[in-house]
Amino acid sequence: MAERQTNPNVQAVSNKIVQNYLISNFGEESVRIIRAATENMTDDALAVKCKLKVSEIRMVLNKMHNMRLAEYTRIKDKDTGWYSYIWKVNLGGIYEVLNQSMQGEINQLNNQLEENTTVLSYICSKCSKSNVIDFEIASKLAFRCPNCKRRLYEKRNSNDEIVTKLGELKTRHSTLQDHIRKHEGMRRIEAAKRLEEMRVAKEAAIKRAAEEAEALKIAKVAKRQAAAKARAVVRKALKAKLAKAKPMKAKPAKTAKPAKTAKPAKKSKRS
Ligand SMILES: [Zn+2]
Repeated sequence: MAERQTNPNVQAVSNKIVQNYLISNFGEESVRIIRAATENMTDDALAVKCKLKVSEIRMVLNKMHNMRLAEYTRIKDKDTGWYSYIWKVNLGGIYEVLNQSMQGEINQLNNQLEENTTVLSYICSKCSKSNVIDFEIASKLAFRCPNCKRRLYEKRNSNDEIVTKLGELKTRHSTLQDHIRKHEGMRRIEAAKRLEEMRVAKEAAIKRAAEEAEALKIAKVAKRQAAAKARAVVRKALKAKLAKAKPMKAKPAKTAKPAKTAKPAKKSKRS
């Protein structure tokens, strides 16, 4: 379920406008196929998963491929020489496709409206209402039907239908544009968030490296101090040893008091 919600294709296909577009352009089954294609799959695997014929899958995917909404990789089987197609559905560009398609429809309806209000055309109400005679020809015919000679009538183009359709389309189009803006906004927020996370991580790494360098420096100083202290202890011990040893050899020479050295000798003699 979680995978379904995070899959961008499934997210896009749950949008009503997108869904309607897919169904009207690629057929009813396209939504099912897109939902099934959560990963790169062969058309055979998709057919099994969707319980559809491989030919149906291929037809939908080929149409989507033309709109750059699906791509495939062709792999040749070395043994059989047959190709298999691994498909990847990517609805990333669907909003732009929709946007352009709707804009095209709106332009078309606008042109139709304009034409209806500027171009005069005539019909014979008896012979044919669908057979339209344009102004130039009608005037040459003196506005008489070439078939029954009845008076031709100016065709009243009802724009109501077009106006209604155009209104609906414009509403849907602005809904889509809101959606696109929201998506872009979300994408921008996501990108900014990722950038901020990267910045924080980088800063933390720099801080950690500095701390480690500082700790290393402190440890080095401590080691040096400890070594110096150890040397001092050794030196002191050596000095003390020397100091103890000195009186026996050096003191008599320095102080020139033979009595001190002589006394112990006397003592030892007494005992
Ligand atoms: Zn007629």
